[in-house]
Amino acid sequence: MNKWIFQGNPTRFNVDAYLLDNDVITWSMRQQHLANYIEIGDDVFIWRSDGNEKGSSGIVARAQVISLPQDYINSEESAQYWYEDVTEVYLAVRLKVLEVEVENMLKRTNLLQHEILQHLPILKIRQNTNYLLTADLGAALVKEWEEAVEKSETQAHLQVKESNTGIVLSIPASSTIHLIECYHIHAFPSPRSYNYSNLVTFRKKGGAMRELYTVIGTFVMDVRHGVVNETIERFPTDVQVRIRQYVEERARDFGFEKPEFQFWVLCFEQSLQHEPQAVKTYNGHVYFTYKDLISGEPYVKISSNQTTNTKADYIHDFEQEMNELKVTPIEETEKEQIVKSRIGQSSFKKALLSFEKKCKLCGVSEEAFLIASHIKPWSISNHHERLDVDNGLLLCPNHNQLFDKGFISFLNNGQIVVSDSIDDNTRQFMHIQVTMKIKLTDRQKVYMQWHLENIFR
Ligand SMILES: [Zn+2]
Repeated sequence: MNKWIFQGNPTRFNVDAYLLDNDVITWSMRQQHLANYIEIGDDVFIWRSDGNEKGSSGIVARAQVISLPQDYINSEESAQYWYEDVTEVYLAVRLKVLEVEVENMLKRTNLLQHEILQHLPILKIRQNTNYLLTADLGAALVKEWEEAVEKSETQAHLQVKESNTGIVLSIPASSTIHLIECYHIHAFPSPRSYNYSNLVTFRKKGGAMRELYTVIGTFVMDVRHGVVNETIERFPTDVQVRIRQYVEERARDFGFEKPEFQFWVLCFEQSLQHEPQAVKTYNGHVYFTYKDLISGEPYVKISSNQTTNTKADYIHDFEQEMNELKVTPIEETEKEQIVKSRIGQSSFKKALLSFEKKCKLCGVSEEAFLIASHIKPWSISNHHERLDVDNGLLLCPNHNQLFDKGFISFLNNGQIVVSDSIDDNTRQFMHIQVTMKIKLTDRQKVYMQWHLENIFR
């Protein structure tokens, strides 16, 4: 992999805003003779030139090449960052922005004093856009940059803590907590929308919190075939080792419920005295103040209910509950009972409620009455099917009974089919009409087909 410096001129376009606003950016390839050396995955450091402010130049971001050089024309979106009209077609590459460090940028004045980096070509020839670095310079620059990023992360922790009103994200993790404490890695199905706080703690069963961490790195990885080398190679070797061991052990003992996982690289900050517990227990993630958590009090108040009401969160909470059952050594039948009794108020229901808030058939909307039923029954579903929200149907008690026992089912187009074994009276009493039709997702249709063939009578 090659290492590059790409330069941008803040008098021509708003370099900082462009980097801060966008995950993917386009950068011109003016030194066309270098285009052949661009490879996908190359490291690119973004150099913001002086512009009108003398002495302000230096490296402000790190990015990664995600396309080979191609002809581009400015889109409307990118044009808003330009102070001039750029209408011509130009050769450019697409970059994924990894880190932006406007505060702790690598300043030109400091680089000039660096033993190795003083030889960076951009310090001598200042007008180019693209600079290809030698291996030595590239390695030294990566090291220097990583130190700057680490420094700014440390500053961020200190700020949060010093303010004493810092918010700590608390995540229930009873079944994986030993992995978290052992490897200082946390992973959860992606996407999931925590309101981000870089102070985080994990709750054991019962709600006790033992250790406080900061999040020092994040990435998303497809874990189906184990660790993806390219995804973690930007981390120091010791972190890479921890990630590998975490993935291996979790895959063996616990499993990954989804292909895509968000990973957090954690840094241990401190132990919590008396292992505080929340005054009120709650299954999902909650927030405490840093001040309360370190107060030494055995019970602490949940400081904020910034729980994000998204489907992803509910589904995750449900999966978490189910996985806890999975690792608890109890009989299958007993498990089924626990699941069934929980379904009434579980996050599986909440997940379904986030799609639709009433009985699919009659529109009863009182949440307390609605039942989250599995289309393919829980008892004969595999692990994935048990957790799959598409295998769920929200119905009122009457319609749930009819559906569960196979008196009604649905065709692929959502049209109801009613068993001959219920008479007209019952149909009327149960509010069933042959014209009823519901909406099914493509994946629900698969489960429904199974119901039609196996449960419908
Ligand atoms: Zn109903």
